[in-house]
Amino acid sequence: DYSLGEADPEVREIITKEKERQFKSLELIASENFTSRAVMEAVGSCLTNKYSEGLPGKRYYGGNEYIDELETLCQKRALAAFNLDENKWGVNVQPLSGSPANFEVYTAILKPHDRIMGLDLPHGGHLSHGFMTPKRRVSGTSIYFESMPYRLDESTGLVDYDMLEKTAILFRPKLIIAGASAYPRDFDYPRMRQIADAVGALLMMDMAHISGLYCDVVTTTTHKSLRGPRGGMIFFKKDPVLGVELESAINNAVFPGLQGGPHNHTIGGLAVCLKHAQSPEFKVYQNKVVSNCRALASRLVELGYKLVSGGSDNHLVLVDLRPMGIDGARVEKILDMASITLNKNSVPGESSFCALVPGGIRIGSPAMTTRGFSEKEFVAIADFIHEGVEITLEAKKLVQGSKLQDFMNFVTSPNFSLMNNVAD
Ligand code: PLP
Repeated sequence: DYSLGEADPEVREIITKEKERQFKSLELIASENFTSRAVMEAVGSCLTNKYSEGLPGKRYYGGNEYIDELETLCQKRALAAFNLDENKWGVNVQPLSGSPANFEVYTAILKPHDRIMGLDLPHGGHLSHGFMTPKRRVSGTSIYFESMPYRLDESTGLVDYDMLEKTAILFRPKLIIAGASAYPRDFDYPRMRQIADAVGALLMMDMAHISGLYCDVVTTTTHKSLRGPRGGMIFFKKDPVLGVELESAINNAVFPGLQGGPHNHTIGGLAVCLKHAQSPEFKVYQNKVVSNCRALASRLVELGYKLVSGGSDNHLVLVDLRPMGIDGARVEKILDMASITLNKNSVPGESSFCALVPGGIRIGSPAMTTRGFSEKEFVAIADFIHEGVEITLEAKKLVQGSKLQDFMNFVTSPNFSLMNNVAD
């Protein structure tokens, strides 16, 4: 029984390098975080060896007495962490990640080609909410279901609920999905509930913690602001909704519908994280995530940046760089060189959606808040980003005065064939 260093120095070295990269860089990707040593210990434990298809007390394999104890504990903690009444809500903690959790919900409550409405990806939604382009159905969700995305009001950067309502009345979706990957504001849950009720749709929320009151189903990843291992969870109402028994439909969609054996090491790590999530210290952390993000947003506005929706209510800001005369892709690259890690992101109102050269950047506060940063450091981060943008603009000017300009004109022209292949 060898240690990793003895058994495989090559992989050990890659891990060491990645650890150093994580340690040395300013990690601002809104969907990333640093999980705790305790969670990592559980994830790296013998729990990974065990097969346990089924649910606690109803397994297809023997030897599951401790795994049953673990999964039941994890379920209890999940409901408690989100203040959900065990008599009214259930949870499945087996989804392997966020996208599978979403597809499991769709499989549970829809038939192939049923209609869904989620926030459009270029306006901040997630691929798994039904993204498609005029030419291609990109995600499995849009391949197997009929998707009609809703969008933001481009003048305010907020969800256009009036248009969502009008479209829902015509489109008659069976499921409306709230939640997003790059939306800096809270959703208007009562309004979404009212629209769903008006058209007889189920309402699902991807990733929100406070929406349990309004939604029928809530999915979430476990590795973002929750700071757990990579995984997913599905919360569902126990009473039937619109004639659908969510509990059995969702549990059956997870297994045997779309998954086999649960990843028990992840469930172990998740249980540890959910215990921590109920501590007063975690509440303080979450409040800091939001106040740090506000400090970052205010400083960026002071520096003259345009933020989508004008600010942030949560853990992320979306900066529209187009007024600065630069795109998010180039700024991401330059900042990467300075060990500042964030991601390029599309912004509402872009003339053509281009995933590789979008007009904005998304900046998140959870990871650096875990590392102990406060508002003062987030103001400094805004200044660093500003410097990165100025350097990128300088670099662009240098390119414009050089022979590279002809090449650049070619690759950024709408007729460039490779571009057309990757972004419709
Ligand atoms: N849903 C939302 C809103 C997300 O932002 C993400 C990830 O970015 C996912 C689902 C997918 O999660 P995963 O990458 O774990 O499949």
